[in-house]
Amino acid sequence: MIQFFHVSKHYPGGQTALDDVTFSVLRGEFAFLTGPSGAGKTTLLRLIYRGEVPTSGRILVNGRNVSSLPRNKIPYLRRTLGVVFQNFRLIDRKTVFENVSYLPRILGADRTEQRRAALEALGRVGLAHRLSAFPPQLSGGEQQRVAIARAVVLQPEILIADEPTGNLDPDLSWEIVRLFLEINLRGTTVILATHDRATIERVGGRVLTLDGGRLERDVAVSGTTPPDLSAMAEAAGAVEPAEVAGGDEPSVAADADGEADELGHQGDQGPEATS
Ligand code: ADP
Repeated sequence: MIQFFHVSKHYPGGQTALDDVTFSVLRGEFAFLTGPSGAGKTTLLRLIYRGEVPTSGRILVNGRNVSSLPRNKIPYLRRTLGVVFQNFRLIDRKTVFENVSYLPRILGADRTEQRRAALEALGRVGLAHRLSAFPPQLSGGEQQRVAIARAVVLQPEILIADEPTGNLDPDLSWEIVRLFLEINLRGTTVILATHDRATIERVGGRVLTLDGGRLERDVAVSGTTPPDLSAMAEAAGAVEPAEVAGGDEPSVAADADGEADELGHQGDQGPEATS
């Protein structure tokens, strides 16, 4: 569960990215986050995984105050969160398998377990047959699917996506959005930032709208052509959320050097230029 209480974020130089934002996203929910460029979407997502700290207000992720987490606890938080970005952030010189199994590997999984986890995650996105390809050999849609597999390889409780379809054409975008819906049906909480109105109108559901850093709307809308959830549930092998979500404590050991950040959080220096 994600809770924001009167959260504001002012960047040095006086830029206000978020202004008194309060909302909750419950465990197992799927929520769109939308608003024009510069509205504060990326900042809000970065605050969830401690890519930034708020100037004021409180943020709880699974009951823990994210802003007051000591540095050495941040990797634990991030292991309960998967993050997907617009520009994929795959490591081009590593194979699909190496990209997806990176996190299990640095957390000490043996080769068999790395392979099992990577195959499971890549199977979910339909790319289990591309283990030895390098990202530049894949299409944009495929690269984003690999990035999603990497984000879910440890079965995170929460999946955050920042304009994940921003670089893709409409048909591919829809396939990617369907994957997020399937992952949500397995019990993962999903927050997907997009300014693609067509996708939001098609899917419907919870929509948080930011404008100028303020949460202007928090509504549930009905979709025009909502996806066939029962077929998707079958494809996803859906289970009850309680069966998927782990406890509060991550079950994996911390990496000493914080290398986990290279996955998903690598190069995380600021907002996407196009977001
Ligand atoms: P969105 O994702 O909706 O496009 P952002 O969260 O990226 O919005 O940005 C919100 C506002 O904060 C913008 O005005 C942006 O210029 C500013 N901003 C974002 N990141 C930084 C930063 N690191 N330093 C200064 N200003 C920033």
